[in-house]
Amino acid sequence: MLKTNKNIPLAESLRSKRNDIEDSRKKPIQSKATLSNPQPTAEPKQWCLADFEVGKSLGKGNFGHVFLAKEKKSGFIVALKVLYKRQLATTNIEKQLRREVEIQGNLRHPNILRLYGYFHDDTRVFLILEYAAKGELFAELQIKKKFTEYEAAKYVAQMTNALLYLHSKRVIHRDIKPENLMLGLNGELKIGDFGWSVRTGKLDTRRGTLCGTLDYLPPEMVEGRSHDKNVDVWSLGVLLYELIVGDPPFESDGVEEITYTRIMKVDLHIPKYVSRDATDLITRLLRYSSSDRLSLKAVMHHPFIVKHIHP
Ligand code: AMP
Repeated sequence: MLKTNKNIPLAESLRSKRNDIEDSRKKPIQSKATLSNPQPTAEPKQWCLADFEVGKSLGKGNFGHVFLAKEKKSGFIVALKVLYKRQLATTNIEKQLRREVEIQGNLRHPNILRLYGYFHDDTRVFLILEYAAKGELFAELQIKKKFTEYEAAKYVAQMTNALLYLHSKRVIHRDIKPENLMLGLNGELKIGDFGWSVRTGKLDTRRGTLCGTLDYLPPEMVEGRSHDKNVDVWSLGVLLYELIVGDPPFESDGVEEITYTRIMKVDLHIPKYVSRDATDLITRLLRYSSSDRLSLKAVMHHPFIVKHIHP
């Protein structure tokens, strides 16, 4: 099981981020904790539930419940994710969680959700996460149905910068989709889930595991071939399409086989209302052969990004 980490300089990182959450702090956190406090730990540097004032629920996922919380000493607001050890064991995802914690805990980028640390008690594991004040991008997409091209370009540029950083650290995300993207206080995008991510030995190591979400899977993964960091470039293309059109490009009303076939054929239909520049970028990202896809650096210089981000 996960061991309590003694060496995470949380207070330091929390202090430097305090300005970012000034507004969210104006809302008083409920004084009654919704979780019971365990025995305080003997070592002050180890985090425990008693270090936090736990507030309202922020949401519930497949494996855990997320609460708004305040670190008592610094007053810093975080999101505390509570996972039950028994559930982790029965679903066999301990290894995945370890990998997620190890990878996300070492990343520092404005468009990647920080994992400040973790601790555990007899029954639960707690992840101390950066608070994404504006919630999930997916929820925003459901409300708006689709984004303007300007908004989509802004998100894609932020996503591209985050992916450039990840790939430079030899991390492939492998599960880019709106459900895994969070929004900070100023609407800035933050990659928030590293459950399928992997660290490669060398920059171009190719891997064979099938993972991620069907609508966002590239042909090489659907066909069971090995894959590399360019799986994230394909997913970026799917994301851009979904942000502008409202649905992912290879969707097929719940019939998975059709989606598989459409992905393998790159059966792409871009509506006429999508601008020429956006269409061009989507088609350069959604290429069957991973080596034919536009590089992330080139994405930042593509006219669709340049005209919206640096007009
Ligand atoms: P998850 O278990 O990661 O799927 O999270 C469940 C729900 O909690 C999500 O749908 C979000 O609405 C919310 N949530 C998770 N992490 C955060 C966070 N860091 N900041 C704000 N809300 C979050």
